[in-house]
Amino acid sequence: MAPSYRYTETSKSSSASTMFPDHEHDHGKCVSSAMQRAEDLCAERSVRLTDIRRQVLELVWQSHNPVGAYDLLDNLHGIGKRAQPPTVYRALEFLMDQGLIHRIESLNAYIGCRDPGEDHAGQFLICRDCGAAAELVDKRIDAAIGQGAKAAGFSVEHPTVELEGVCANCRPEHKGTKHG
Ligand SMILES: [Zn+2]
Ligand SMILES: [Zn+2]
Ligand SMILES: [Zn+2]
Repeated sequence: MAPSYRYTETSKSSSASTMFPDHEHDHGKCVSSAMQRAEDLCAERSVRLTDIRRQVLELVWQSHNPVGAYDLLDNLHGIGKRAQPPTVYRALEFLMDQGLIHRIESLNAYIGCRDPGEDHAGQFLICRDCGAAAELVDKRIDAAIGQGAKAAGFSVEHPTVELEGVCANCRPEHKGTKHG
């Protein structure tokens, strides 16, 4: 009855560190590439990345931690923009529709997508220590959820998976043999 598959976390330390970049990483690069990607996608789709949408996206990308709508509103005010909550919510809706951000239901917060343009449900690893979240995009998980739901005759509306734990940066030391 126990699951027969096993996850080992040996040979993949480089991907772990890119999923949860350390505090010294050049976050400006993350932001500029996300913004560039958004500009390109919106141009491709002939939708407008208006100022407010761009500013909200940039604020969502301020860090790798999901951010709530009211924090976004505060931050907008912080950069001298007066926006009402409905304006911010509309911008968030637009960004979600375009797949540029995801909503993390368990935190009631938003995070930038690293791979917009690709249609995916998103599985999130959320660190309970530093609050960072990383997105796994694994078609096998999407497929397994789809099959399981179908077998149950269930129609999935929010296929997002949210996993809580401790990220690579917050783990005291790699112990290597911690299983069970
Ligand atoms: Zn970054
Ligand atoms: Zn995504
Ligand atoms: Zn962490």
